[in-house]
Amino acid sequence: MPKSSATVQPSAARSAPPIWVNIALFSLTFLAAIVVVPWYGITHGYSAAAWVLFGVFLAANELSITAGYHRLWAHRTYEAHWSLRVLYLIFGTMAMQNSAWIWCSGHRRHHLNVDDEELDPYSARRGFWFSHIGWMLREYPSGKTDFSNIPDLRRDRMLAFQHRHYLALVLLTNLGLPLLAGWLTGDLWGVFLLAGVLRLVVSHHFTFFINSLAHMWGSRPYTEDNTARDNPVLAVLTFGEGYHNFHHIFAHDYRNGVRWWQWDPTKWLIAGLQFVGLTRKLKRTPVFQIQRALLAMQFARAQSSLERVAPTAAPSRISELRQHISREYDSFLAAVADWAKVKEQWLTEKKRAVAEHWEHTSFQLRFKELEQRLRLQRRRLRVLQAQLA
Ligand SMILES: [Zn+2]
Ligand SMILES: [Zn+2]
Repeated sequence: MPKSSATVQPSAARSAPPIWVNIALFSLTFLAAIVVVPWYGITHGYSAAAWVLFGVFLAANELSITAGYHRLWAHRTYEAHWSLRVLYLIFGTMAMQNSAWIWCSGHRRHHLNVDDEELDPYSARRGFWFSHIGWMLREYPSGKTDFSNIPDLRRDRMLAFQHRHYLALVLLTNLGLPLLAGWLTGDLWGVFLLAGVLRLVVSHHFTFFINSLAHMWGSRPYTEDNTARDNPVLAVLTFGEGYHNFHHIFAHDYRNGVRWWQWDPTKWLIAGLQFVGLTRKLKRTPVFQIQRALLAMQFARAQSSLERVAPTAAPSRISELRQHISREYDSFLAAVADWAKVKEQWLTEKKRAVAEHWEHTSFQLRFKELEQRLRLQRRRLRVLQAQLA
């Protein structure tokens, strides 16, 4: 992916001109949500239908951003049937986070230059406010529109249509859908305020948390190379996007919460729709690679715990632990080398056996055995880490 040509001087960033339309949009909808919405509830009350529609539109908006804008278009982690893409486009437009072209181009830049204060459009290193919403309120050079990194999406006529008619489509979905639903259920203003106004503000800020809080609050089990965190609380608010540490290291995986028990409704939706033929070619990171990343982090942590306790512990004990860690590390490197070798053999065999009946069971067994080796090693390291704590 080409790098953005945008560069910025710190003083230039401070004097970036305000984007009044965004400032007005975010502040007016926010004010309406905290003042008008409760006032109407107290004076008129809301129907059950209004609350249900609030939930339905909120879920449709968030899932269109997470499964559509994010995992389908920005990262191409799977393929989707055109009918599903139309739904993503309708409810993604309703979420009012800009056209898919602008969203995905900025997001690809975020991944490529994560934490870079000049090139990442919403670098968390510039603080909570900037990464949450501030980056959209001024014309920062880091946020300059540059479509050179989305040639694939530029060829998509559906996305081109959305980009060209974005404003009309935003008005149609945000005024038309809630008003129509309100008229049909006989609670015009109630539905408009809950499923229209409150839904928009809640879906905005829940998504914005991914750029702000998910880069500040949580754990880093896979990598410490960037600020992205895994956070189960944020995962609940964002339909699974809270497992952001995993996402930043394995961005081409359709899952963010990779373990089966991790709360990631977006991954369940994508995987579920595969059974009815609406999604296909779901990309998964090999288990071994995931285990390798986890183990590498465990080694780094064990090493720093050892350095921390070294000054106060008995020298013989420290040298024993040091040897222990170094032995484990050697066996880790050996497993990684073995895996690379098996993978290479597997690829060669697959190529050679393309026309014949391709027997891959023996390879799967070997891969499984290597994965198991790393799992056992992670368990041993956890025991070691507990001794060091
Ligand atoms: Zn991120
Ligand atoms: Zn992403």
